[in-house]
Amino acid sequence: MIITLKRGAKQKEISAVSDKIKSLGYKPHVSRGKDVTIIGMIGEYAEKYKDAFEAMDAVEHISEIQKPYKLASREFKKSNTVIKVSRGVEIGAKKIHVIAGPCAIESRDLMFNTAKIVKDAGATILRGGAFKPRSSPYAFQGLGEKGLKYIEAAGRKYHMPVISEAMSVEQVELLSKYCDIIQIGARNIQNYDLLKAAGKQKKPVLLKRGMATTVKELLLSAEYILSQGNYDVMLCERGIRTFEDSTRFTMDLNAIPVLKKLSHLPIVLDPSHGIGIREHVGTMAKACVAVGADALILEVHPRPQEALSDGPQSLLPEQFSALMNELDAVAKAVGREIL
Ligand code: PEP
Ligand code: MN
Repeated sequence: MIITLKRGAKQKEISAVSDKIKSLGYKPHVSRGKDVTIIGMIGEYAEKYKDAFEAMDAVEHISEIQKPYKLASREFKKSNTVIKVSRGVEIGAKKIHVIAGPCAIESRDLMFNTAKIVKDAGATILRGGAFKPRSSPYAFQGLGEKGLKYIEAAGRKYHMPVISEAMSVEQVELLSKYCDIIQIGARNIQNYDLLKAAGKQKKPVLLKRGMATTVKELLLSAEYILSQGNYDVMLCERGIRTFEDSTRFTMDLNAIPVLKKLSHLPIVLDPSHGIGIREHVGTMAKACVAVGADALILEVHPRPQEALSDGPQSLLPEQFSALMNELDAVAKAVGREIL
């Protein structure tokens, strides 16, 4: 349930409600608005304590959250969440951020060259996988920690926060040392131990929808992270699997207005994996901006034909910089900006 405190409630009053929640064996989730603070008391049978909280002086009113996902829901938080990443980057505000870089960190040179290319074109966050979830065990699996050192150094040189994927609980800890955002990939959306580990650390998390995950399941997976006390979660649509086989996946753009209505969390769209065909990534990226993306994630490679992973969907440097200008025009048409 949601406990809404009276306008201008003091810290002492907020603590009194939080302490009472804790004493009943629940975790308080405090969300401070400009004037009003709300506290979520989430867990089985929380509603049975409604009267006890209603009797407290600082409490204005109490409501129940009907949805199975609680902290992720618009019922819990009406205003859009804006996530503060490092280096002044904020996701969920007017500016649409572009996260760009190679699918995999292949070498130090590749990471630095690509960082310069995407930075010059206007990207604000650098991507690159050090641990790669490949369909084949014989395909390039990533450089591991060495790769993380390269992406961290490239981000430092070009003043960009960096993001990389964690596939296991142990990798979450390692990644949080080198990266500004932790990516949980489509294949791990229902790896609940991994979600909990991501929720226990403090770095923002980009959670990718699985290829056979419903919108409700995506929000429930986000809830796993939020419920551990990490409220900085971005939801990422990256294409789902359908009967259609002329594209790599089917980008579910329908999900964006639906998610925006159901949840306050920022939405990141990944047209590179969504369509999987370089020639069409730009067109879909424009559609993503038009439909309400708060950020895009795009794969870029200086020589995609030599890429060790996802070459066929990686944009060439010149394609990427031309696209950034087009995306900015679409962003302006929908009241946002990119460059
Ligand atoms: C990736 O971003 O390179 C990736 C593996 O993404 P997904 O989990 O969406 O397949
Ligand atoms: Mn990829």
